[in-house]
Amino acid sequence: MASHPPTPLPARPRLRRLDLQIPPRDRQIITAARASDASGGSESHPIPFINAVDRVPYAHFTYSSSADAAFDLGFDVGCRCEGGACEGCACAEGVGFGLKRECGRGCRCGSGCGNRETQGGVGARLRVVRDPRKGWGLHVAEFVREGRFVCEYSGEYVTNEEAKRRLMEYDELTSGGQFSHALLVVREHLPSRRACLRVNIDATRIGNVARFINHSCDGGNLTLILVRNTGSLIPRLCFFASRDIKEGEEITFSYGDVRLRPDGPPCHCGSTGCFGVLPSEQT
Ligand SMILES: [Zn+2]
Ligand SMILES: [Zn+2]
Ligand SMILES: [Zn+2]
Repeated sequence: MASHPPTPLPARPRLRRLDLQIPPRDRQIITAARASDASGGSESHPIPFINAVDRVPYAHFTYSSSADAAFDLGFDVGCRCEGGACEGCACAEGVGFGLKRECGRGCRCGSGCGNRETQGGVGARLRVVRDPRKGWGLHVAEFVREGRFVCEYSGEYVTNEEAKRRLMEYDELTSGGQFSHALLVVREHLPSRRACLRVNIDATRIGNVARFINHSCDGGNLTLILVRNTGSLIPRLCFFASRDIKEGEEITFSYGDVRLRPDGPPCHCGSTGCFGVLPSEQT
């Protein structure tokens, strides 16, 4: 389970040596550029790191704006709508609570179709803000109305076995302090098939700014929706505003239905119902 604060992986010696070869002035320029936009130009608006707490300028990870295409069926599956008129087409039909469907790669409608709300990168202006206790957190830099798409949780899809293996590895690193992972496990009970779908997305090394979203014991102000593109086997995890969110507010959600370990990392969510401990995924 993701736990905050998401901090960079410990620097490897090889990288440190490389860094030293860069002249100090160039290093400052690189640092300033990274701190000015966490997405490195991948999103339509820059997402700056704001830190009035300590001297950490940014968090290092490989930016990937979407986890899509991971499991495309690879053949021509999709609607035949022309000119993006997909309101009411089969691709737009809901499939249940907490699930949403959107047009996919094989649809003829094209990228301008109105049924691709979550496919254009982050949906609101955001910034990554340092907190003295939680580390980095994600804040909105504009007013966000209830129901609006905010961002996808992008990262590497991993199998259940691999998730288990990584969580054990991360647990060990976490106990040494200074490290916190961003592996999110989501279980969705499918109403139609009485089955449980488990999605593991690891944004620890590769992901987007959603990796900075902190947990809140009261559920926060985001709803997690599984979005399945037509022709794709695995849904993407997308965050929508669960209520109106004021400019400058931190965005949070509940890491979920997971075990509370008495020895787990402390929770600083500040909500009235705070359990005092961050939820952690059963390994
Ligand atoms: Zn359509
Ligand atoms: Zn479609
Ligand atoms: Zn469409």
